Order: sequence, then structure tokens, then C-alpha cells
Amino acid sequence: MSTLQADVVVLGAGMVGVSVAVHLQKRGRQVVMIDRRHPGEETSYGNGGLVQREAVFPHPFPRSVAELRRIARNRSVDAYYHLSALPGLARPLFAYWRNSEPRRYAEITAQWITLIATCAGEHETLAEEAGSTALLRPVGFIRAYNDAATLEADLAKAERARDFGVNSVALTPAKLAEMEPHLSNGFIGALHWTDPYAVNDPHALTLSYAALFERLGGQFAIGDATTLRRNGAGWRVTADDGSVVEAEDAIVALGIWSGGVSRRFGYMPPLFGKRGYHLHFKPRGNAGLTRPVASNGFLLAPMRQGIRLTTGAEFARGAAQPSPVQLARAEPIARSIFPLGDAVEPAPWMGVRPCTPDMLPIIGRIPSQPHLWGAFGHAHQGFTLGPTTGRLLAEMMTGDAPFVDPSPFRAERF
Ligand SMILES: Cc1cc2nc3c(=O)[nH]c(=O)nc-3n(C[C@H](O)[C@H](O)[C@H](O)COP(=O)(O)OP(=O)(O)OC[C@H]3O[C@@H](n4cnc5c(N)ncnc54)[C@H](O)[C@@H]3O)c2cc1C
Repeated sequence: MSTLQADVVVLGAGMVGVSVAVHLQKRGRQVVMIDRRHPGEETSYGNGGLVQREAVFPHPFPRSVAELRRIARNRSVDAYYHLSALPGLARPLFAYWRNSEPRRYAEITAQWITLIATCAGEHETLAEEAGSTALLRPVGFIRAYNDAATLEADLAKAERARDFGVNSVALTPAKLAEMEPHLSNGFIGALHWTDPYAVNDPHALTLSYAALFERLGGQFAIGDATTLRRNGAGWRVTADDGSVVEAEDAIVALGIWSGGVSRRFGYMPPLFGKRGYHLHFKPRGNAGLTRPVASNGFLLAPMRQGIRLTTGAEFARGAAQPSPVQLARAEPIARSIFPLGDAVEPAPWMGVRPCTPDMLPIIGRIPSQPHLWGAFGHAHQGFTLGPTTGRLLAEMMTGDAPFVDPSPFRAERF
């Protein structure tokens, strides 16, 4: 049985874990990254591929009675819940609802923006070093509307977002048809968010950062993070091949599974999941999309595999079987918008957005556990914020001045 000595062991090789690992390795720390699968094969695999510079307003819990009623009916495309999940979710969802109260939400938004404002630049830096700049397609994405009230509300939101450096262009139906000629022309208007990068293979981007990590001398091993044990003041983890990794510091970057490991060491974050699905479709004939298009509670994103239809938030118990109800609801609408052909895969993919009740991720020390750190809870924007989180945590761990104030993201707040 061999023993690998490292400075840091990173648990989890999604976009967040990989980015943390690269940033530490760049700063001269010897890092071993452990995952039970190969890098980027869980939630970081199947998302919408957007680096969301425009996402300056985190997703709040609905507050209006009309909106709550709409979701409670459980017939919408954008949100769906299992009744059986509600008792277990009551506490975090109640806290989420309270944190979405306008004053508190404004405070949270101000903290969240400090992260989002850096996302494009941090991806650019890593992608350049990784040789994967071509994956960052500077085409933004479009949100298209069928009803005037929602369009008006979002135009107002776009104006507010401008104060935070976010650019957008309102599109007439004619302009939309010119930009995306294969969309149906039933829309009354659209918004083109011009800043986001649209990645047409999110897995490839994560893999490129993982390859950079290995080029810099980092090591990756397949293994189960639940084998993490104290080893004096440091840590040890056992890889699947029987080798043992010993490290001074350990980082939990396990997405929705983070709480399962951190609770073994006394830290129980109120993480909850918003599940999402995707299925790829072949476009009919010569139809295509230049950039992702969001509408009617789903997203159509052009990917290497085909047109990826991704869904909104599903609330279910952790162990519940996939129930792609929203995908079934979205597909006929999607077909009426864009000429979708056959599905590419026999069954949908499912991923879980790791959410916290205050809409902010956990980045920093795990309380009462020396040399244990957390980087999780990035909800709807973990693909966007991986490199930002990676740099911030690496700076905190190596004693550099953090480029963003880390205090809003400290684990002790829960
Ligand atoms: C449908 C959908 C669309 C989305 N669209 C976007 C988007 O356009 N832009 C955006 O920014 N975000 C998007 N997101 C959110 C984003 O995908 C997530 O926030 C992000 O992938 C989380 O990354 P992560 O590294 O924290 O977690 P993951 O990518 O889930 O990585 C966690 C890793 O931990 C490993 N792991 C778990 N348990 C163990 C264990 N016991 N031992 C070893 N390894 C373990 C897993 O194998 C996995 O590799 C979307 C999510 C969904 C579901």
C-alpha cells in the first residue's frame, strides 16, 4: 500500500473542486484531488454551460401570493416538488423565504455581486492557461418572452443590472428572428444578455482545468471522500486502489454531497438540492441556435451533443428516483419554439444544484476543525463561480490578500 504525501487534499472534482485545486497548485501547494468518478461528471457535466456574468440577482424564493399559488399548484415548468420532500425541506425553505424578504435580499445581493463580478475574468485566466479559451464563446444568451408583463419586469431588471456593470440589449421580434432564424416567431420580444460566455461542452471546460492541474504537478485519484479521517493535526483519505493520501489540509468541495462529509466532523450546513434535468435533441434539417435561449421556464442550449433542453428546479428527497416531469412538460413547448428532432439519449441526465438558504456559497474554514475547509453551495451558478471560488479559497489558505472579501461566505454563519 503506497502513501502519497501532499499539502492539501481536495475532495470533489466538479468545477468548484477542480478550480480550487488548480489555484492551490499554481501557488506552490502540492495537491491531490479525490473523486469517486472522473472530473466533472456530476452536476458540472450537464448544466446550461453559461458563465453567468449577468446573474447579479441570486434566485430568490417567490414572495408574491400569485407566484406562490402558481408554484403550489405544482403544474409549472420552472418548478416542481415532491410532496414527500416538503417536511424535510421545511426549515431550509422557510429560511430561504425569509432571506428573500426585500431588505435582506438586497444585502445578500450586494455580497453575491462581489463574486459574480469576477466570474468572466477568472474563467478567462484559467481557460487561457488551460488552452481552452475557444470553449468560452462570447455570444451571451437570449431570454425570449410571450407575455408583456414578464418582459416589462425583466426589462426593468436589466436596467437595474446595468448599475452592476451588466450589459443587455432589448430585441424586437424582427431582431430576434434575424439573430436566431430557426426560432418560431411567436415571441413578443427578447433580451440579449451580452456578457455571459456560452460553453457548448461544460464537461470539456472542467476537464481542461483538471488537465492544467495535472500539468502543474497536481495528482488525481479515484476514491471515496467518506474515507476522510484525522491523521494527527492533518488528514488521510484512502483511494480506491488502496493508496493513502496524507495531507495537512482538506477541502470539502463535493457539491450537494458536501454536507454528508462535513457532518462527520460536526458541521451540518443547511444545504438543500434543486434538481435539474437535461436531454439532447438532434435539430431538424439545417436548424441551429447560435446561443442558448431561455423561455417558458427552460433553456435550449446548443451543445456538441445536440440541442440541450435543461429544466428548472425540482425539490425531492435526496434518495428519490429521477422524475423528469418538468422535462416532459417542457418538451412540447420547446418543440413549438424550435424544430427539435429525435432525442439523442434514451434517458434524461439529472444533476443537483447545491443550495443554501441565504443564496450564498460556503467558502472558508469549517468551524472547530483545524485544517478543514469548505467550497460548496453555489446553487444555480457553480459552473460560473468555480474559478472565482478557487482563487479566493487558495488566497485565504496561502495567506495572500483575498481579492474578494470572504466574510459573507464564511461557514460559521450556519
Ligand atoms: C440543469 C442545470 C443547469 C445548470 N446551469 C448552470 C449554468 O448555466 N451556469 C452555472 O453557472 N451553473 C449552472 N448550474 C449549476 C451548476 O451546474 C452547479 O452549481 C455546479 O456544477 C456545482 O459544482 P460543484 O463542483 O460544486 O459540484 P459537482 O459538479 O456536483 O461536483 C461534486 C463532485 O463530488 C463528487 N463526490 C460526491 N460524493 C463523493 C464521495 N463520497 N467521494 C468522492 N467524490 C464524491 C462527485 O462525483 C462530483 O464530481 C446548473 C445546474 C443544473 C442542474
